[in-house]
Amino acid sequence: MAQVKACPDCERRNAADNTVCQFCGMTLEQAPIFDAPDLALPKITINDRVLKLPLQVELVIGRADAPSGWIPDVDLLPLGGTAGAGVSRRHARLVWYGHWQIQDLGSANGTFVDRHRLAPDMPQDLKPGAVIQIGRLYLVYHG
Ligand SMILES: [Zn+2]
Repeated sequence: MAQVKACPDCERRNAADNTVCQFCGMTLEQAPIFDAPDLALPKITINDRVLKLPLQVELVIGRADAPSGWIPDVDLLPLGGTAGAGVSRRHARLVWYGHWQIQDLGSANGTFVDRHRLAPDMPQDLKPGAVIQIGRLYLVYHG
C-alpha cells in the first residue's frame, strides 16, 4: 500500500509528502492522508510493442506538437498517431485510482474502449485485454 492524499480542489491523487498538488498547485497542507494500492505501471501494447511509460498517477495520451512544444506523457506521433490519423494533442488520459481508468479529454474523434465510445471527461475502468482505439491506432491494455 502507498500513502496518498487527494487534492481538495481537483480531487486527483498526490504522494503523501507533496505539499502542493502536482496537477493544479493547490496547497495540500490540510488534505488527509490515506492508504491506497501502490502505483503500478500499466502494460499497454501497440502493434505488439510495449509502450514505455513514466511511473505517474496520470498519463496523458496524445501527439506531440512542435510549434507549441507540447509533449504528452504517451506520445503517439512516432507510432503513426498524426492529426491525419485522428489523434488529438490531448486525446485521453490514464488515471490511477488503485486501478487504471481511462478518460477521453474531449478529443475530436473520440476514444473507444472495446468499440464503445467514451463520453468525454467520464473516467471508465480498464479491464485487462481492453482494446483502446485512439484515432486509427489500437492500444491493448494488459493490466
Ligand atoms: Zn489539485
